[in-house]
Amino acid sequence: MILFENEPMNKHTSFKVGGPARFLAKVESADDLKATLALASEKQLPHFIVGNGTNLLVSDSGYDGVVITLAGEFSEIQELGNGTYKVGAAVPLGRFARTALKQGFAGIHKLAGIPGTLGGALYMNAGAYGQEIGNCCTAVTVLDSEENIRELATSECGFGYRQSAFQKNGDIILSATFQLPEASAQGKTIADLETELAECMAKRKATQPLSMPNAGSTFKRLDAGSADMPEQVAPGYYIEQAGLKGQRIGGAEVSTLHANFIVNAGDATAKDIKELSEFVQARVAEKFGIQLKREIILLGNFE
Ligand SMILES: Cc1cc2nc3c(=O)[nH]c(=O)nc-3n(C[C@H](O)[C@H](O)[C@H](O)COP(=O)(O)OP(=O)(O)OC[C@H]3O[C@@H](n4cnc5c(N)ncnc54)[C@H](O)[C@@H]3O)c2cc1C
Repeated sequence: MILFENEPMNKHTSFKVGGPARFLAKVESADDLKATLALASEKQLPHFIVGNGTNLLVSDSGYDGVVITLAGEFSEIQELGNGTYKVGAAVPLGRFARTALKQGFAGIHKLAGIPGTLGGALYMNAGAYGQEIGNCCTAVTVLDSEENIRELATSECGFGYRQSAFQKNGDIILSATFQLPEASAQGKTIADLETELAECMAKRKATQPLSMPNAGSTFKRLDAGSADMPEQVAPGYYIEQAGLKGQRIGGAEVSTLHANFIVNAGDATAKDIKELSEFVQARVAEKFGIQLKREIILLGNFE
């Protein structure tokens, strides 16, 4: 393992904010990971796994614990043939999606624009444009909280909309196996998949504030249930209707392009971003009686 002390977390998050982690450990193998967990436990410090930090808001005071990032053997894609892949948790989702697409396999190609790692994507059950990472996954290998390496069937992973069992059980995702359908089985060619991906990327570029630091959607889509919400609906609609596009607290701003994105407009602190998200929640609740649920994960002390 490579250990960094007082590592600034603004270097490891897409919001580009966050104070220092007491330690940041870059680990390259399962043994290395176990050694890092032993070190954290010896120092009586908590640990937290960070992928690409694209769904994460780290406190300005940092994290008094050991942040773990995966590398080495966790960055490998093993091609097992016929659309079966075993993919390490540190592999960028875009790399895996494009690899499979080039080999003529569909199912996850529309996810190529999500900037996270495979581990972060499985934890969040990331999805876009009608595809979700949990859907084509057949098994997930984890290091569980008792430090046993276990292979979980998809039915044990609790995948739902932006939900997984990993959000509750503390398992560390090491790798996952996928069985992807052939494009031709869906009557498509590789060129068709490339066109679909290009359309998704163009939509992202047109509708998301990609030139400013952000962490994707701030809030989850709303669940169906009430008479006013026959389907899941986008929080951005309500945020915009509440007149909050462009609303600022300090250096944090509700994007003028996409109301469900908060951007770091230059000098935002984590406190600014958190306070702005709470301000938005309060205004939307007041105006529409709707409780927005945060999608972005918080790390550290915000008191
Ligand atoms: C511009 C932009 C666009 C985005 N578009 C989308 C989108 O279309 N759809 C979508 O769903 N999301 C989107 N996101 C959000 C984000 O990219 C996804 O949630 C992504 O899956 C997070 O991956 P990550 O590696 O960055 O995770 P991180 O942000 O590093 O971590 C997120 C959570 O996952 C946990 N985690 C990470 N790795 C592991 C592991 N190996 N084992 C256990 N837990 C782990 C962390 O502890 C943390 O709780 C977008 C973000 C940005 C910035």
